[in-house]
Amino acid sequence: MSTGRLTIDLDAVAANWRALDAKSDQGVQTSAVVKADAYGLGVGKVGRALAAAGARRFFVAVPEEGAALREALGPGPEISVFAGHMPGDTDMIHDLGLVPMLNSVDQLTRHFEALPGHPFGIQLDTGMNRLGMEAAEWGPLRELIVAQNPRLIMSHLACADEPTHLMNRQQLETFHEMTEGLDVPRSLAATGGILMGSDYHFDLTRPGIGLYGGLPFDAAAPVVSLDLPVVQIRDVAPGESVGYSNTWVAEYQTRVATVCGGYADGISRKISNKAVMFHEDTPCPILGRVSMDLITVDVTHLREIPKSLTLLGTQQNADDLADVAGTIGYEVLTQLGARYARYYARGRG
Ligand SMILES: *Cc1c(COP(=O)(O)O)cnc(C)c1O
Repeated sequence: MSTGRLTIDLDAVAANWRALDAKSDQGVQTSAVVKADAYGLGVGKVGRALAAAGARRFFVAVPEEGAALREALGPGPEISVFAGHMPGDTDMIHDLGLVPMLNSVDQLTRHFEALPGHPFGIQLDTGMNRLGMEAAEWGPLRELIVAQNPRLIMSHLACADEPTHLMNRQQLETFHEMTEGLDVPRSLAATGGILMGSDYHFDLTRPGIGLYGGLPFDAAAPVVSLDLPVVQIRDVAPGESVGYSNTWVAEYQTRVATVCGGYADGISRKISNKAVMFHEDTPCPILGRVSMDLITVDVTHLREIPKSLTLLGTQQNADDLADVAGTIGYEVLTQLGARYARYYARGRG
């Protein structure tokens, strides 16, 4: 087989959910954020594994993502939608039993008119200026909205990956001010917020990246490995070049492995001539440009000819590779391509 092999350890996902759940008090519910196809890992399989671990509430970005998740989970678990209720969403919200997090007066009006009595939540903007009602909009409508029994009032932290950033305290204070005295469950923390301690936990936490083994949850169990098969080996003489635009020229006799996988599989072209792949624990530098479907790798120093090389694994995780590419682990995961053969392992207990 010449496609890359992507292995997703569902037991590690479940263990990460339990570990993040254990960081908040018993009375705090831990949900699971599975937007973007569970950060690229497959929302059906991942959703079921999280439900089996104990997750009862899930979040997606848009209602369309609720369909595959509802199919995987069945009717019980609650599925909430960050983008709220947009024109054209009403049937999906109704038929799939989704709970939109309403972000504006427009969305509130639409929701109450189209689906009176249908569950909803409210998203407040506490300073990120991305989604949610601002204080001036929310203040005068607060009592009216609360009388309609929202299931949740939530907001989102802009700087939770930097625990000492002053913005965190500011947003916490603003969230308290905007929700003071209300008898509605509240939520502020994603993965970063969970790690900042109980002040940030409120009634429900919303971990995403930590479930999938990513920073800022540095104690996460590794979830993803990606191995690319070697399709050809050649020896390149000094002075010869490798790959598009001749960006790598051999200075010594070099054994080059060509592996299947490229930017069409979500492997950033920015790691060209920079990142390494691994044969077991031995790093093997990427030579030349990452092309659409292929990568060339220096295996001169290996004692054997490898069948495949590892791009993601315990040797180098998504955050490590992201550092080389100048991005974040979230982007590396969500770009994982559709061409890989996906294996869902049950590694740890
Ligand atoms: C993506 C997202 C989350 C999850 O964030 P992580 O950093 O992946 O844990 C939680 N809440 C909102 C509003 C989000 O957009």
